[in-house]
Amino acid sequence: MARIVQKFGGTSVGDLDRIRNAARRVKQAVDRGEQVAVVVSAMSGETNRLDGWTREISPLHDTREYDVVVSAGEQVTCGLMAMALQDIQVPARSWLGWQVPIVTDDLHGRARIESIDTEMIGGRIDGGEVAVVAGFQGLGPRNRITTLGRGGSDASAVALAAALGAERCDIFTDVDGVYTTDPRIVAKARKLDRIAYEEMLEMASLGAKVLQTRAVELAMRHRVTLQVVSSFEDVPGTFLVDEDEIVEKNIVSGIAYSRDEAKITLAHIADRPGVAASVFGPLADAGINVDMIVQSSSQDGRSADITFTIGKSDLNRTLEVLEGNRGALEYRELMSDADVVKVSVIGVGMRTHAGVAQQMFHTLSDKGINIQVISTSEIKVSVLIAEEYTELALRSLHSAYGLDAE
Ligand code: ADP
Ligand code: ASP
Ligand code: MG
Repeated sequence: MARIVQKFGGTSVGDLDRIRNAARRVKQAVDRGEQVAVVVSAMSGETNRLDGWTREISPLHDTREYDVVVSAGEQVTCGLMAMALQDIQVPARSWLGWQVPIVTDDLHGRARIESIDTEMIGGRIDGGEVAVVAGFQGLGPRNRITTLGRGGSDASAVALAAALGAERCDIFTDVDGVYTTDPRIVAKARKLDRIAYEEMLEMASLGAKVLQTRAVELAMRHRVTLQVVSSFEDVPGTFLVDEDEIVEKNIVSGIAYSRDEAKITLAHIADRPGVAASVFGPLADAGINVDMIVQSSSQDGRSADITFTIGKSDLNRTLEVLEGNRGALEYRELMSDADVVKVSVIGVGMRTHAGVAQQMFHTLSDKGINIQVISTSEIKVSVLIAEEYTELALRSLHSAYGLDAE
C-alpha cells in the first residue's frame, strides 16, 4: 500500500469546521487505500499569539522556554484532528514531536531535524491507523522540546515523508498552488502546474511563504514528490519537479517579496583595509545574519558609506552592537530604516539570458521607484525599495516579464 503524508497549514485547521473539513480529506485518501500520516500546524494566528506572550513576559527570554510555549499550538490541533478522524470512523492517534520522536539539534527556535525514528509510527500506520503528527516540534539532545523555525510544519511533513518512504507529500494550504507571485497581492498572478525545486528554493528563501525554505531543501535532497494543494477546493495543485521536466521555460518564473527586512547605513566610516571585517565580525558573533551589502567610497577616498540589510527582528540588537562598537568603527552617523521591502525576480532562465536586471531597473524607474540596494545571483535579482511601493512594484514587474494571467 502506498504511504502518503498530508500536511494542513494554519488556515486549513483554523477552526473546528476546518479541522473537520481536513479530516474528510484524510478520509478520502484512506478510502482510496492509502496509508496516511497527517502533519498539522497550529490554528492560524495561534503561534503569533504564543510568540507575543513570550516577548511580553521577557524580551530576552530563554529560547528553550520559548520553544515550550510556541510549540503548544500544534499539540491542540493534533489532538483535535485525531478526534475528528475517529468521529468519522477513521482509526487515528496523535503524536507529539517527542513521541515519534523527531530528533533535532539544539538550536532552539530554529532547530534542524537530524533523524526521525519511524519504527513505532510506521508500525501503527501499517496496522491501518492514521498517524496525526504535531508539526513544528522536535526533541533536542537534552530531552528538551525544540521548534523548527516559523513555517516549520512544512519541514516536519517533508522530513516525515522522506523517513516513511512516502510516495508523495501534499501540502494543503489556503491557496491552490504556487503562483508566479503572491496571489493575494497581484490579482493577475498565474498558478504554476510545476515549478523547479531550485526556483522554489529561491522563491521561498526570498520571502514566498507558501513553503518554508528548509522544507524545499529537504524535498530536493531526499527526492520527495511534493505538491502544494488547496484544502478547500478539489483542484490539482503545483508539483515540485526537476528543472529539465519543465518544457516551457520562462526567463523569469516568479517574483517574491519580503517585508522582513531592515536597512542600516554607517555613514563616513574610515575607508581602509579591515573595516568591513570590523563591522560584520561583531554582528556575526551576535548571530545576526546580514543579507545585502553595498559600500560606496567618498570623493576624498578616505571615508566610505556602508549600507546593509538584516532581518527586521534583529534591528534593535544590530543597533546595539554597532553603537557598542562606535569607538572602534569611527563612523560619523548610524541610520536605520525598517520601512523597506526586498523584491526579487527569480528564474533558471537567467543563467542563459542577459538583460533581466536591466528590465527590472527600467520598470521600477518608470514607476518612479527608487532602488536602494541591489544584489544578484545566478538565478535571481533582488532590490530593496521603500515598503510603500510593494504592490506597485510587484504588479508592474509581473506585467513587464509577461507573467500576467490572461
Ligand atoms: P499555511 O498556513 O497553510 O502554512 P502560509 O500562510 O504559510 O500557509 O502560506 C500560504 C500563503 O503564502 C498564501 O496565502 C499566499 O498569500 C502566500 N504566498 C506568497 N507567495 C506565494 C506564491 N508565489 N504562491 C502562492 N502563495 C504565495
Ligand atoms: N505554527 C508554526 C508557525 O506558525 C509552524 C507552521 O505553521 O508551519 O510558524
Ligand atoms: Mg506555512
